[in-house]
Amino acid sequence: MRVLMLSDVHANLVALETVVAVAGEFDAVWNLGDIVGYGPKPGECVDFIISLNPSASLIGNHDWAAIGRLQLDEFNPVARFATYWTTAQLKTEHMHYLESLPNRVIEEHWMLVHASPRHPIWEYVYTAKIAEENFELFDTDVCFLGHTHVQLYISESMAKAGMGPAQPHDGMVLQITDERYIVNPGSVGQPRDNNPDAAFAIYDTEERTVTFRRVPYDVALTQRQMDKAGLPRPLITRLALGV
Ligand code: ZN
Repeated sequence: MRVLMLSDVHANLVALETVVAVAGEFDAVWNLGDIVGYGPKPGECVDFIISLNPSASLIGNHDWAAIGRLQLDEFNPVARFATYWTTAQLKTEHMHYLESLPNRVIEEHWMLVHASPRHPIWEYVYTAKIAEENFELFDTDVCFLGHTHVQLYISESMAKAGMGPAQPHDGMVLQITDERYIVNPGSVGQPRDNNPDAAFAIYDTEERTVTFRRVPYDVALTQRQMDKAGLPRPLITRLALGV
């Protein structure tokens, strides 16, 4: 089974459509959360994800915020403004869909969370130390997660040695074999690794490989949609920088 893995779409419909168009054939879709927040097309992105009939679909912190499940104190003013705007765009069916999403999915070989095994909604896995601590908290071969908006992977031995996480290049294939891994497919709609290209990954469950991908999309079109929606300027400019 070839799984198209999507995370942190953040209401960027142009990026989402581009990723699905270039992903090639896939048998299943997993959404690792944050469909909405920041971007200009939240309802449309929820509808698009539903139309893909994902076999796993997770809640993210921005999805929670949009449906009123989070106090917004921890969001900066720009994110808070975007959250209020997002909530106002969502229809009842979008709310119901987001409310129905779990915060983790565990199968025999893999675990899916938005943020981390320890804190499925909140924790950023971006250091070897944080990864090492989280390896203790799951026993599947691989844990797929998003939230940092940085495409990366780290094995248990890398984490124990204080190495990584490593950032793959477009087209890199990671073989999941004797080692356990934490893998982040990166963000479809708001990458933060100084590369504006949309990030995603394909997981082949038989070959046990993860193929990391980056794809350019029409950033200027998303920016025009944000401008028209009256979304904050810093959110618009960051998309072109990948920060
Ligand atoms: Zn996010």
